[in-house]
Amino acid sequence: MLTRRDLLKTAAAGAASLVVPGGVPAQDRRGFTLPPLPYPAGDLEPVIDAETMTIHHDRHHQAYVDNLNKALGAAPDWLARPIEDVVRNIAQVPEAVRTAVRNNGGGHLNHSWFWRMMAKPGTGGAPSRDLLAAIDASFGTLDGFKRDFTARALGQFGSGWAWLVVGGPDNKPLGVTSTPNQDSPLMEGKHTLLGIDVWEHAYYLKYRNVRAKYVEAWFQVVNWNFVNELYARRPKA
Ligand code: MN
Repeated sequence: MLTRRDLLKTAAAGAASLVVPGGVPAQDRRGFTLPPLPYPAGDLEPVIDAETMTIHHDRHHQAYVDNLNKALGAAPDWLARPIEDVVRNIAQVPEAVRTAVRNNGGGHLNHSWFWRMMAKPGTGGAPSRDLLAAIDASFGTLDGFKRDFTARALGQFGSGWAWLVVGGPDNKPLGVTSTPNQDSPLMEGKHTLLGIDVWEHAYYLKYRNVRAKYVEAWFQVVNWNFVNELYARRPKA
């Protein structure tokens, strides 16, 4: 017999499963929508200028959302699924639209997280004790993490992303990786904690072609409070 308490627990688990950690709310069949920036476009200055943020969010992210909805018009069941679920199961998306969904669904998810992974300089907090222990075990120190993450961000040829993910080489708790285009570590079953967009549209107005200066400055806007939350909600082995 299920008690009322069991039923409530089940209902809560069902609702929670619709929103993956750090996630975007589940969609209905009308399709995906652009989430608002979680802060004013000028908040990340001087690291990222308001014009870059506005174009990046209002034009680039909007285009990923629009093109994702267009592609999935041919497969409407997928329009009702959370974007994390679509991206994680990209291999099951109908082949005729898979590439479009990979690029634009990845773009929608990556940017939805990216905005929340950043905060006004001085307000993003610091790694939690748990996360710092994992960073130390994986990279030696926080500076060691920044060095390895930066190497991935600068080593990604052309457009793409660098990431901090759960699970590193030699059974380390964390690792860094990079993906081309709008691919997501979720496509390889990895749990993502932090990512930096290294497409030129993310930095060109202010930093021109000097990606290294952008990446160096970007650590000032990392929203560690959000990263801590993603780390606390990681799938436990
Ligand atoms: Mn971008």
